Amino acid sequence: MAAPVLLDLLWPIFLLLGWEHVRIDPNPPNPFLALAFPSYPISHSLLAAVGWAVLAAGVYWAATRYRAGALWIGIGVVSHWFLDFVTHRPDLPLVPGSGTRVGLALWNSLPATVVVEGAVFAAGLWLYARTTRARDRIGRWAFVAFVVFLLAIYAANAFSPSPPPSERAIARLTLSGWLLPFWAYWFDRHRDVVAVAAPSEGARRP
Ligand SMILES: [Zn+2]
Repeated sequence: MAAPVLLDLLWPIFLLLGWEHVRIDPNPPNPFLALAFPSYPISHSLLAAVGWAVLAAGVYWAATRYRAGALWIGIGVVSHWFLDFVTHRPDLPLVPGSGTRVGLALWNSLPATVVVEGAVFAAGLWLYARTTRARDRIGRWAFVAFVVFLLAIYAANAFSPSPPPSERAIARLTLSGWLLPFWAYWFDRHRDVVAVAAPSEGARRP
């Protein structure tokens, strides 16, 4: 959970330090475009994303010696950049300081964004719900509450009438993202991995 959101966990810290900047559009064409990202090379350039991925995978491997897990942690971290690449306007730098900024701007269309992001969310949810089973009430209800919480945040973002008031307010709000990995860790400890019918082998983890 921490891996795919890592870049957005770091971003508010860099905002508060004044190393990166965000601009608020008081009259955005749609709520997904309320923020502009003039500078976020340390959290959101492709090169930095790869660096964070290597670092996260290395820390995970050092702690667990679980190679496949470390590999997927790295892929998870860098996947954030490629998913942002699909949704963001061309504001993502390839390397810090470079003028080349990329992005496919899915956010230009509110309906297309909701359909695509909704489908990705549903697919992830389906995979997790299918490969794990609640062992107790926490495993069931803390998971359900987590999903409801994510949907509520999404709805608040997608349909919020007014953008956040300042860069610092955005940073403080985004810092609440640190709650998510701990919350997920909590209910995941109360769920078991179930073997699913697969062509080669069942889902397994040490
Ligand atoms: Zn991001």
